[in-house]
Amino acid sequence: MSLKRHLPGIAAAFVVLVCGAILAMGALREWSAREGELRSAETDTANLVRSLLQHAEDSIELVDNAIVGVVHRLETEGATPAALARLQSFLTLRKTTMPRLRGLFVYGADGAWLVTSEQVDLAGLNNSDRDYFIHHRTSAERGVFIGRPVRSRSGGQWIIPVSRRFQTPDGGFAGVVLATVDVAYFEKFYSQFAMGPRGSLALVGSNGVLMARFPADDSFVGRDISASPVIAQARRAASGSLSFTSGLDGMERLSAYRRSDRLPLILLASRGRDDVLAEWRGAAAERMGFVSGLTLLIATLGLFLVRQMFERQRMTHVVEAREADFRLLAEASSDLVSRIGLDGRLIYVSPSASRVVGWSAAELTGTQALSGIRPEDKPLVDATVEALRRGERAEAKLTYRTRHRTKGEIWVESSLNVTRDPETGEIDGVVAVSRDMTEHKELQTQLAALATRDGLTGIANRRCFDETFETEWLRCQRDGEPVSLLLIDVDHFKKFNDGYGHQSGDECLRRVAAAIALVARRPADIAARYGGEEFALLMPKTDPAGCERMGERARLAIQELGLAHRGNPPRNVVTVSIGCATVYPSPATPDRSTLIEAADMALYAAKGAGRNTVRPAPVVHRLAPTARRSA
Ligand code: GH3
Ligand code: MG
Ligand code: MG
Repeated sequence: MSLKRHLPGIAAAFVVLVCGAILAMGALREWSAREGELRSAETDTANLVRSLLQHAEDSIELVDNAIVGVVHRLETEGATPAALARLQSFLTLRKTTMPRLRGLFVYGADGAWLVTSEQVDLAGLNNSDRDYFIHHRTSAERGVFIGRPVRSRSGGQWIIPVSRRFQTPDGGFAGVVLATVDVAYFEKFYSQFAMGPRGSLALVGSNGVLMARFPADDSFVGRDISASPVIAQARRAASGSLSFTSGLDGMERLSAYRRSDRLPLILLASRGRDDVLAEWRGAAAERMGFVSGLTLLIATLGLFLVRQMFERQRMTHVVEAREADFRLLAEASSDLVSRIGLDGRLIYVSPSASRVVGWSAAELTGTQALSGIRPEDKPLVDATVEALRRGERAEAKLTYRTRHRTKGEIWVESSLNVTRDPETGEIDGVVAVSRDMTEHKELQTQLAALATRDGLTGIANRRCFDETFETEWLRCQRDGEPVSLLLIDVDHFKKFNDGYGHQSGDECLRRVAAAIALVARRPADIAARYGGEEFALLMPKTDPAGCERMGERARLAIQELGLAHRGNPPRNVVTVSIGCATVYPSPATPDRSTLIEAADMALYAAKGAGRNTVRPAPVVHRLAPTARRSA
């Protein structure tokens, strides 16, 4: 329950978590791709540095080989003019076989040019001021010396001087053999490697003097860069890599270097970090764009669903609150409140069900709502419910009979109202408020009886008599049948009251009424109290003879009751006088009062004839228009 309540919140957190995880995983993957890119760039650069250093060493050593050869010749053959002439042709030959060699030079102990591979006039040329010359003159060191790059005196281009000293047989300084290598040779070679827009390759002397660089820039050559962090580090460790921010353009660079263990050389390669990462950056942006788009889609969809869930939960709360209100009202009601689904089953039944229909709410829930209804009443109830379900009516009131568990059949009145789904607005059932109307119905019946029965005697009253008279009159008029009437009056009843009391008078009237009612045996006959101690017996379809016979029967029946009546001689029992009249109603007959008047006149005659007798109306035959039944 509590989980269900928190479900939208959990779902929202889940969506956020999933999106966060996707983004984090994407970012992590890109970060490791970036690290990989940097690592492989570092490895590539280190490998390149190793190869290029090897190349530089080999190039210098090749040149040094030529120098060693010349030194050997000078030391064995001496620097005689003949030997120098031979050497001259050797140098020229040597140069043609070694393209990287700019020139070969031999200087005497005073710095004067002795021989060269170049076509220059040697007279007056002296190189005693060059640092390599000073080095060899002052140092007994016989190894190869790589000097600072200088501008060639013969060609004007930047060159790297590679030199050795040669000696006199006693070990004294005899001069210098110099080979020069074009800086451009290295620059051209380095230009073949793709280092990116901010990349560079540099050959540096171990003293920190830059000898060759690509991209080529003459202003760099010969510059002392020993202060740079790479050179500082190269002095400590033979190889390595580092990244630093360039003081030149403020861009970060990845550098690798290697120091030669054979020659005083360092090879240095740098690449702009941005260049290394450019390709990764493009691909990563594309991938992250895709991942972000996907995440956005998931987030949008997810949050849309979460919103739906929240909305749904809100609706559920509204419905639950409404349901609770409904139950509160329903359960407090003495009426039976029920909800009927579209399938006709009871979804909800209030507790008062046990009082109204005798079954408990639990027993009724889930059963068909209309199952106990009396078959005669069912069609109307069914039709009404169907009309509600179809939306043709919004409410209805029905009174019908249904089964009570113990009381048998009861009258029920139901108010039916359609209910609608709060979300869709579609009809989803019917609410019925039902109450037991049995007592009410019985009261109604009693009232109806009271309206037609005489309170004292229980036979029809004057009003009922009048109404029945009217309808029977019209029927007989239509059918051409006679209508007969007896007017019955108790003899000397005033005296009865006086003699026995009013209550006995009432009792007497009840006995007389019952006797008259017994005489009226045909269903259409109606015995009524006409007023006071006067009764009427209306007999449709009865002819004058039958009427008189009935009158006589009534007179006898009352006399034979034998109710003592001292004031009614000669028999001193209660008797009645009866006036009979018959009319054949026809369109010509003025109206039914004629019959009453005739019977009344006959009664008057009966009284005049000494009472306890039956007298037919003298006018009866005159009123009969046809002689159908008179014969
Ligand atoms: P007659 O033979 O000429 O009909 O004499 P009567 O005394 O019966 O005539 P009358 O019409 O003068 O008297 C009727 C009496 O019936 C008067 C009244 O007190 C009495 N009466 C009428 N209705 C009731 C009743 O409901 N209960 C009782 N106890 N007496 C009634
Ligand atoms: Mg009377
Ligand atoms: Mg009377």
